[in-house]
Amino acid sequence: MHEPYYLTTAIAYTSRKPHIGNSYEIVMTDALARFRRMQGYDVYFLTGTDEHGQKIEEIAKESGITPQEHVDKIAGEIRGICDLLNVSYNQFIRTTSPEHMRRVQDIFQKLYDQGDIYKGEYVGKYCTPCESFWTESQLVNGKCPDCGRDVRDAKEEAYFLKLSKYQSWLEEYIEQNPDFIYPEARKKEMLNNFIKKGVQDLCVSRTTVKWGIPVPFDDKHVIYIWIDALSNYITALGYEANGNHGELYKKYWPANVHIIGKDIVRFHSIYWTIMLHALGEPIPKQVFGHPWMLFGDPKSKVLEKMSKSRGNVIYADELVEKFGVDAVRYYLLSEMPFAQDGSITYENMI
Ligand SMILES: [Zn+2]
Repeated sequence: MHEPYYLTTAIAYTSRKPHIGNSYEIVMTDALARFRRMQGYDVYFLTGTDEHGQKIEEIAKESGITPQEHVDKIAGEIRGICDLLNVSYNQFIRTTSPEHMRRVQDIFQKLYDQGDIYKGEYVGKYCTPCESFWTESQLVNGKCPDCGRDVRDAKEEAYFLKLSKYQSWLEEYIEQNPDFIYPEARKKEMLNNFIKKGVQDLCVSRTTVKWGIPVPFDDKHVIYIWIDALSNYITALGYEANGNHGELYKKYWPANVHIIGKDIVRFHSIYWTIMLHALGEPIPKQVFGHPWMLFGDPKSKVLEKMSKSRGNVIYADELVEKFGVDAVRYYLLSEMPFAQDGSITYENMI
């Protein structure tokens, strides 16, 4: 009885206050958490905030405050939205917490000591807003494949995680665990568009960014977002690189499901899965990539991503103020198809 059930959302990036499209994920995950509790599972539900990186450094500078002041403010707003939406999380993790930072450094050190992280030089195309390096072949019409903006040539000394070493293991793992990446279309996309084309070693440090967790043995470098952010799912439970894990980790890991946006399935099903395997830890049972909530009439063919510049941003707190929390939750859960993008307008909400 009371079988453990561990589920997580992605941690929200603390660059700006999130819109309702970002809040959809947390409400969907909350519905699943409540359903599992009703079924008698011993549920642990983790959410939180991702608080490092160049973009945060830049926004804080523009606002004339420190990055820490900036993330404290935004993380507070995000947590406030979770509470306003009646989200029944068990823990809200912040990647600037000292415990998380220390555990991430230990993970980095362990991977380095066992030869899975090595020092090299990164030469590639860099997208500053996305903080991502791309290879020539990944660009779409010469632009960043994630955001469509211009990229520039960049080169820096960096540490790399040996993903290539685990490519055949990963391919086999995904084939043998057909429910691991869900829905099916995402699994095919991962296998055919990314894994079978060749998994390249991943750049896991930066010297150009200051706002991050220092590499423990080389403080010119900070640990790049992947190892920092993805590790939250285990650092929150008290994972220790030396094997002396906390009680929560022993009880709840591996996760039953990571609920994330379809745009970050790649990071979870490739980077995170290989990281865990390299650490000798079990792999989560499922990575679920949900569609996006866009702006526009669901019957219309023209749906847009919400953005400040388009003036179509809808915030959860404004909706809750006007319609009440249950109406907002009902809209998010009933109007969003799980296989394709859904949408919202004030007219539809009314
Ligand atoms: Zn980009």
